[in-house]
Amino acid sequence: MFTARNSKYASDAERQEKLSFFKKLSFLNIWQGIARTLSEAVFPSRCLVCEEFFPPPPKIEIRDIEDITFETAMGAFICRNCCCGFVPIEPPICLWCGIEIENYEDEICVRCHNTLNQFRKARMLGFYRTPKSDDDLEEQPLEKAIKALKYSEKTWLAKGLGMLLFSTFVRYWDPKEIDLVMPVPLHIRKLRKRGFNQSYLLVINWHRIAEKLNINLSHIQIDIDTLIRHKDTKPQVSLEGKEERKRNIEKAFRVINPSKIQGKRILLVDDVFTSGSTVNECAKALLKAGAECVDVLALARPLKKK
Ligand SMILES: [Zn+2]
Ligand SMILES: [Zn+2]
Repeated sequence: MFTARNSKYASDAERQEKLSFFKKLSFLNIWQGIARTLSEAVFPSRCLVCEEFFPPPPKIEIRDIEDITFETAMGAFICRNCCCGFVPIEPPICLWCGIEIENYEDEICVRCHNTLNQFRKARMLGFYRTPKSDDDLEEQPLEKAIKALKYSEKTWLAKGLGMLLFSTFVRYWDPKEIDLVMPVPLHIRKLRKRGFNQSYLLVINWHRIAEKLNINLSHIQIDIDTLIRHKDTKPQVSLEGKEERKRNIEKAFRVINPSKIQGKRILLVDDVFTSGSTVNECAKALLKAGAECVDVLALARPLKKK
């Protein structure tokens, strides 16, 4: 009896304590809400594309792969209106290089008919630019975001872009098909100058995202030191012709530890797939060193055809 009364007092006290804790918490929530509203008024986000200020969108918890959209991934940095400008690459696509084609019956694009790709398949998320008129191109939010990451050191953009890249990976691959993820390497001089490899930043959080979404990625390793770029090449986007791009990148890559890639199925990751010459050279070096196959995943393709 005594014990029961004691325990009743104990539970009453406990309840009071909990109540006051929750009161404090809701009080805290109100203050947090006020603080957030004030900070939004004082520090709204500035859109990366149109440069207008906009209130940050509510934080969305990503629970499913379908929750990853351009807006949920990039909405903190690009306003809603500009996010709507994102142009995804949608089927029908070339089964080999992943570019949009006219109809499903074609299966592979004209370029792949005339080129012997070294990679097994390549897929990308969206377009860099779209034609506005005959001689004018429209820069897309994806291009702005990639350039801001690469050239303005806005490395925090890699989180959202990496999430988008991961959703593209899951869209086109069964993760069981891949053993190693390899970001396309930069030459040591460029790496020192930039301070980071943007393609590595795009995959650095993949295991964490996969865990959140209950996708098994534990067998996949991210490898950043087996493939190296020993030739300091010019940026492929700065070169005009296909031949010039090919010459620029020829024999630029080398595998320094072939035993690490023997029989492995490799996914090469890059930010932009320009003519395919870079990834083809990487794939050539990897296959020569004993990789079983090489696939390619990139964020963007430069230009959507009219
Ligand atoms: Zn905007
Ligand atoms: Zn193709």
